[in-house]
Amino acid sequence: MSAKAPTIGVVSLGCPKALVDSERIITRLRSEGYSLSASYEGADLVVVNTCGFLDSAKAESLDAIGEAIAENGKVIVTGCLGKEESLIRDTHPKVLEVTGPHQYEAVVGAVHTHLPQVHDPKIDLVPEGGFRLTPRHYAYLKISEGCNNRCTFCIIPSIRGDLVSRPANAVLKEAESLVKAGVKELLVISQDTSAYGVDVKYAESKWKDRMVRAKFYDLCKELGDLGAWVRLHYVYPYPHVDEVVGLMAEGKVLPYLDIPFQHASPSVLKAMRRPANQDKVLDRIKTWRKICPDLTIRSSFIVGFPGETEDDFETLLDFIEEAEIDRACVFKYENVDGAPSRDLPDHVDQDDVDERYDRFMEVQTALAHQRLQSMIGKTVDAICDGWDEDSEAYAFRTKADAPEIDGVTYVDSDDEIAPGTITQLEILGGEGHEMVGALVED
Ligand code: SF4
Repeated sequence: MSAKAPTIGVVSLGCPKALVDSERIITRLRSEGYSLSASYEGADLVVVNTCGFLDSAKAESLDAIGEAIAENGKVIVTGCLGKEESLIRDTHPKVLEVTGPHQYEAVVGAVHTHLPQVHDPKIDLVPEGGFRLTPRHYAYLKISEGCNNRCTFCIIPSIRGDLVSRPANAVLKEAESLVKAGVKELLVISQDTSAYGVDVKYAESKWKDRMVRAKFYDLCKELGDLGAWVRLHYVYPYPHVDEVVGLMAEGKVLPYLDIPFQHASPSVLKAMRRPANQDKVLDRIKTWRKICPDLTIRSSFIVGFPGETEDDFETLLDFIEEAEIDRACVFKYENVDGAPSRDLPDHVDQDDVDERYDRFMEVQTALAHQRLQSMIGKTVDAICDGWDEDSEAYAFRTKADAPEIDGVTYVDSDDEIAPGTITQLEILGGEGHEMVGALVED
């Protein structure tokens, strides 16, 4: 028998923009199985979407909140007056939560906290954990949209706009649902993962019995408690990444950082307008490796950026060797339509770009070979991605390998191994980015 769907009431005040926000909140909650009530008595909780444009509108909003508390008791406030949280809380201390304008995901998160949805597989079209295009055992977890940086080769900010971080409780809720649905590895993504929460001034939101800040470290710590592997992508080497490396050493998140350095020469980085202080990057990486000796660093680089000289390029080659970048992928610079770098002077001849690319690949291949040799004989944790038809073996990934972009370890086994199985392997050998391993018997 189905559990009764939780029911919400929505009081919408103010302008058409606020009405659109109310519609988005309702659409989202309906798709999650909540019912709607037109009366206070029929609702388990009421959302009041307020207006705070004029004093008269503020007074009307405060009255509406008071009425909802008197008639229903469980009230979440959102909308323009949400910017004046202390006014609302002083007038109506019983309000459960207050969120600001256009923070519809924060409102939905607050509803989840105070009136959890009931998942009913017989009626829900959306499975627990949502629709996903990845295999069942791993999933991408997007923590923000857009980007505050303005790298000159990139058009993402002009398409997606500035950074908009999701509330911590919305991210954690999604992550928890994914883990409950069988996900064993969460791949944290965004355009600039370590900048998470900067746009909302690290706003707190309620998760379980506590408040969690929308901050890179706090989010990683909470994600690390969900019982799945947590892999971080698109991290920039800001100083506060150090404390997250501490979580890696504790085993809370995977000892893996995907940092798109793009280059190492100060003048090229300046022309690229890359974020984070690059002067201290080598020192920072050395510190990370001291904190967490198992750390794997993956990065991507661009060769042939406008203005790149032979000296700049050699600085880059020295960097990938000295920093011991474990996984480096390289792209030839391209003049992307709309990218400011098109207008930079001193574009590099295509022949030179090609030649630098080949030299980069040579160094990178040698580094990958060394790394692989150092793995032979080691016992490592690995996750099974399933049976691989071409190699007629089970494909595994170690903690140092992200799906799709890094290496694979092939394992022979007469017993069936389910995708998502995490076990120990002994590395026997390999070539390039492919290794061969054997299951370690208990
Ligand atoms: S390259 Fe990345 S950090 Fe730079 S502007 Fe584009 S999305 Fe932002």
